[in-house]
Amino acid sequence: MLAGGGERAAWDGGRRVLLAAPRGYCAGVDRAVEAVEKALELYGAPVYVRKEIVHNKHVVRTLAERGAVFVQETSEVPEGAHVVFSAHGVSPAVREEAAARSLRAIDATCPLVTKVHREAVRFAERDAEILLIGHTGHEEVEGTAGEAPEHITVVDSPEAADAVQVRDPDNLVWLSQTTLSVDETMETVRRLRERFPNLADPPSDDICYATQNRQVAVKKIAAESDLVIVVGSANSSNSVRLVEVALDAGAGASHRVDSAAEIDDAWLEGVTTVGVTSGASVPEVLVREVVAHLAQRGYGSVEEVTTAQEDLVFSLPTDLRRDIKRRSLPVTPV
Ligand code: SF4
Repeated sequence: MLAGGGERAAWDGGRRVLLAAPRGYCAGVDRAVEAVEKALELYGAPVYVRKEIVHNKHVVRTLAERGAVFVQETSEVPEGAHVVFSAHGVSPAVREEAAARSLRAIDATCPLVTKVHREAVRFAERDAEILLIGHTGHEEVEGTAGEAPEHITVVDSPEAADAVQVRDPDNLVWLSQTTLSVDETMETVRRLRERFPNLADPPSDDICYATQNRQVAVKKIAAESDLVIVVGSANSSNSVRLVEVALDAGAGASHRVDSAAEIDDAWLEGVTTVGVTSGASVPEVLVREVVAHLAQRGYGSVEEVTTAQEDLVFSLPTDLRRDIKRRSLPVTPV
């Protein structure tokens, strides 16, 4: 999945921007946002969305302007209306509640989150105890934990690994949220395994390709950057992790911003190289605005540093595809 950065242009020592690639939208976010857009086109406004479809203020505001209504719970959705479940996934209890109220659900859960749900169900069926590494209260963690609440304990930091209590240390497996820091998760696992040597690994990486690729890319630019600006919202787990990863990888400083307007000129004092990246829920237009903002302040030279190529695309949720197909069928004359 990872590719080399290739030949780097000679740098003249002046002010510059290093732009990490990959950055921004992943396949799961792209699919979820398109699902809401298509639902609005097909069924008309309002289309209800449970929680933020993806964790980005700009995306949520733009969809709300087009007629999406964001709610916290399905109980707020009128009976029979269309409701989209966000990319972060939902627990079976939420699906059941939606069905009980005859809501027409469109499930935009990222397939890579669904994969973790399935793993949780499979291990629970074998009566294994699951240590789910992730952030307590995050929607994705709530959704995954809801698949097998009696079998899952959330471990939300390396420190928590030192304290977690288990029933049977010989029937344990760890799974994780998809958007964590790879390095911190490995540290949590190391500490768990010190206490529970028979802890089993997940069948495959739970931290998704997009999260991993963005962390590799930001590490590459961080070591050369006096400052790394991460575009992303405060509740975006993978965006917040990019700030931490940049600092760990040697950036002089790192700040997360929702948009160019949040960049403080004081951050740029004495700064020659600014690294720029964005979380997996961030539209590229916001990065372009940050680059333009920096160009106005003398950082006109922009070099893109590429560490991976991404071409994964997920198809739209099944029900939506079915309705799109039906709608495009010619009407039979009577
Ligand atoms: Fe899916 Fe990863 Fe994107 Fe989350 S960050 S929506 S898990 S691809």
